[in-house]
Amino acid sequence: METDYDVAIIGGGIVGLAQAWMAARRGYKVAVFEKTSIAQGATVRNFGMIWPIGQPAGELYEVAKRSREFWLELADAGALDVETCGSIHLAHKEDEMQVLQEFVDQQTHPATLISPAEICQRSGLVNPEGLLGGMVSDTELRVDPRTAAERIHRWLAREFSVQFHFETLITAINGNEILSSDRQRWNVGRIIICSGSDLHTLYPEHFAKSSLVLCKLQMLRSVAQAKPLPENIPHIASGLTLRHYTSFNACPSIDLLKQRIKTESPELDQFGIHVMASQFQSGEVILGDSHEYGKDISPFDKIEIDELMIRELKQVIRLNDWTVKEKWHGIYAKHPDLPVYEEQINPTVSLFVGTGGAGMTMSFGLAEKYWKKR
Ligand SMILES: Cc1cc2nc3c(=O)[nH]c(=O)nc-3n(C[C@H](O)[C@H](O)[C@H](O)COP(=O)(O)OP(=O)(O)OC[C@H]3O[C@@H](n4cnc5c(N)ncnc54)[C@H](O)[C@@H]3O)c2cc1C
Repeated sequence: METDYDVAIIGGGIVGLAQAWMAARRGYKVAVFEKTSIAQGATVRNFGMIWPIGQPAGELYEVAKRSREFWLELADAGALDVETCGSIHLAHKEDEMQVLQEFVDQQTHPATLISPAEICQRSGLVNPEGLLGGMVSDTELRVDPRTAAERIHRWLAREFSVQFHFETLITAINGNEILSSDRQRWNVGRIIICSGSDLHTLYPEHFAKSSLVLCKLQMLRSVAQAKPLPENIPHIASGLTLRHYTSFNACPSIDLLKQRIKTESPELDQFGIHVMASQFQSGEVILGDSHEYGKDISPFDKIEIDELMIRELKQVIRLNDWTVKEKWHGIYAKHPDLPVYEEQINPTVSLFVGTGGAGMTMSFGLAEKYWKKR
């Protein structure tokens, strides 16, 4: 039977877009099916940080670097703006400085230690009070999460003739046929489900056995800060983030740091708070974040979490105006061990879900790996 498309992607977030791009690059006729009128999931709710420094040395770091190349390729092609801003990890405590020293000594990631004076020269956001030093890395990138998915979808449509079916909820798959809630049908060669945190509409019985857990993150955006601003303002990560990103697990002193926070500030562990800041050319700063898993996820946001984040942020960064312009939360699916949960349901259908807190960083590289195996 003649097919409408060689490849159908269900879900128009960054994971689905990455799959669409990698399939289209191989010459396939591709369509993306997205239930909303424009992507509204984790892909538009994140920091917009492309964050290779958070990936442990080895295969995951290589995938992150490969993804980074793809983001730069998109920028070169005029698809969207990508800032080569890099990142600075701050140490306001001795044990944070010790972990950064150990990380740099391992020489697994191109990062160097810098003095408080150098940090303040590179970023006007940093609070110099009590600052012991920090670590600078050039590999991190910034994209605008509010517009990135839309820009990529327009580019894929223009350059690769990828077809986008928005406001199309896929409710069933029968063999090679996909069906939408408004009773449309398409015949396709292959189906890749990139449904983000929606683990219930399609193949819920497979997701139930997958070990994927949902995680909710609260986020804030400040009003625009005073201008003029330099270009490429580095992302800022506080010492608290060292206990979150697995790249630092290789540092011998990380357990002592984790233990200190657990003892001194159990409320930070309770809500998975580790603070970061990213300033855009508009002057606004995205601030976050917290992590509540599984059963703790409520539809309502906790003011207590916002207050704790601001308390911690004020210790590490300075804003002219701390007025919060927007608050929101995002939810992602995460696998405890894998960078993405892949399952081949049958010869036609696969699941490709669960990039956790690193989907912007990893999706292109992971999708490339997926297609190399085919
Ligand atoms: C607050 C927050 C901050 C983050 N910060 C970063 C960061 O700075 N850097 C980083 O690398 N990662 C970050 N992440 C992680 C990253 O955003 C996610 O890993 C990534 O966006 C997941 O992409 P996705 O395409 O799987 O999911 P989504 O973006 O949620 O997209 C899934 C899409 O599938 C659609 N869909 C689902 N089911 C169907 C169906 N049956 N039919 C049609 N459409 C369907 C949904 O409508 C949705 O648009 C962050 C995440 C959050 C929540």
